[in-house]
Amino acid sequence: MAPHPTHPEDKEEPMKALDLLDELTKARAELSQVKAQLEVLRDQDPLTGLPNRIRLSDRTSQAILRARRQGNMVSVLFIELDRFKSVNQTLEFTETDELCLQLTRRMSVLLAAGDTLARVGTDQFAVLLPDIQDPQEPLRMAQAILDALRIPYRVGQREVRLTASIGISTSPQDGDDAPTLQKEAEHATDRAKASGGNSIQCTTLTLSEASFERQQMESFLGQAILKNEMQVFYQPQTIADGSIFGMEALLRWEHPVLGTVPPSKFVPLAEENQFIHAMGEWTLATACRQAAIWQAMSPRPVKLAVNVSPIQLTQPRWVDFVARTLRECRLSPSCLELEITESTLLKNAKTSQTILHDLRALGVHFGIDDFGTGYSSLSYLHQLPIDTLKIDQTFVRGMFPSQPGVISSISIVQTIIHLGRDMGMRVVAEGVETLQQKNALVDMGCYGFQGYLMGRPMEGAELGLRLESQINSAFNALLPSPPLDQAN
Ligand code: C2E
Ligand code: MG
Ligand code: MG
Repeated sequence: MAPHPTHPEDKEEPMKALDLLDELTKARAELSQVKAQLEVLRDQDPLTGLPNRIRLSDRTSQAILRARRQGNMVSVLFIELDRFKSVNQTLEFTETDELCLQLTRRMSVLLAAGDTLARVGTDQFAVLLPDIQDPQEPLRMAQAILDALRIPYRVGQREVRLTASIGISTSPQDGDDAPTLQKEAEHATDRAKASGGNSIQCTTLTLSEASFERQQMESFLGQAILKNEMQVFYQPQTIADGSIFGMEALLRWEHPVLGTVPPSKFVPLAEENQFIHAMGEWTLATACRQAAIWQAMSPRPVKLAVNVSPIQLTQPRWVDFVARTLRECRLSPSCLELEITESTLLKNAKTSQTILHDLRALGVHFGIDDFGTGYSSLSYLHQLPIDTLKIDQTFVRGMFPSQPGVISSISIVQTIIHLGRDMGMRVVAEGVETLQQKNALVDMGCYGFQGYLMGRPMEGAELGLRLESQINSAFNALLPSPPLDQAN
């Protein structure tokens, strides 16, 4: 029997079914693609592609588990841009995105393999450091991030400036789970913001305030010179009539986060970390270059006093450095007076003394700083090439005690002046703040005066102006008086 002819419409039925099946498969594939994309977006920031808060939490939990096994620490740095909202208002929508991408790139390049950078809010980021052994590592990273973010951005035609506040928490001290660690870091950031922004704070639990400050300072100190944060100031030293015969170089450290750090805080730290060698060389070279400028304008030899740490005098290469610097600055060695303290002579006495004698052979002078507060035996005064004794400022301050019953230090001051003069040394009083002190010192035969009364430590250019006016008035005094009719 012949097959029953099929109707054309009968043919279309299986075709339609096949198409439908095809459509269905495609739709299924698209759906799973969308699902996968949604899955990715669940823990990823859509603009930057960085992990978001969810993925950061997962990774932090894993890092804490691993660190616990290995005895390491985990740190979370919470970074919030300062005043981002007002920056945002000045930008177009696309420009804000561009800015975010730029600052993301700047932070990303600072990370090591295994670290995580996450975007946890519009103007908030976080860094997870998973394997910390050195407690200063998070501080160094935070500082590097602050520095990188601070460099101006070019967005379209505009230049944009930004700073950030960073809070650091570290496990196990500050918490042993991801939510606690993140919360502690956020609280620390709030404190950094409250203190004016552009700064770093650790959680209070991590370190005591003093040791945190110390660690923070230590981590910044190593780069202070490279980053141009150090400056040398100069304080004038005068004779009785007020004319300047010398200047003492005093180091200053202006840090963007720590503010102005006094030498009494950073010099001892630099001594412990051996930064003192680079710092001392930089100070000497800077001060000698400045003194050479003054020397060129002054008819009299200038005297530059530079403080030297006992640690520096343990290194024989210091002698070569001093000689080379003086040569390069074309400064006579007799212009330079190195100030050392009495305790210096006790530390590594033998090496220090050899170095002192070698420097003396070059023609360099020496002053004993803070005289009377250190070593009690005076025998070294005979053995060493000392030119100047500087009376410590506590004795000068104590000459006229304001409180009744406090014994005056006048007799100590008088004794030091006699001692110095008998041994052929110059005696310079430090910390002279009042005319009463100065007049009494003049009456006792003190040679030189240094203190706020004569001038505070100042920038080289400012002291240059003072020297210039001193030279001009000395020159004018030498000129014959003009005839009376011209003088009027
Ligand atoms: P120092 O060498 O005895 O310097 C004198 C200190 O007294 C300076 O403090 C100066 O600013 C301060 N001073 C000066 N006149 C007066 C005054 O009339 N009243 C009061 N109350 N203070 C006055 P500064 O600059 O803070 O330096 C402190 C110490 O730090 C210096 O004492 C010196 O021992 C050390 N230092 C400073 N620069 C350097 C440096 O480049 N290298 C080393 N190794 N030590 C330095
Ligand atoms: Mg001094
Ligand atoms: Mg002193």
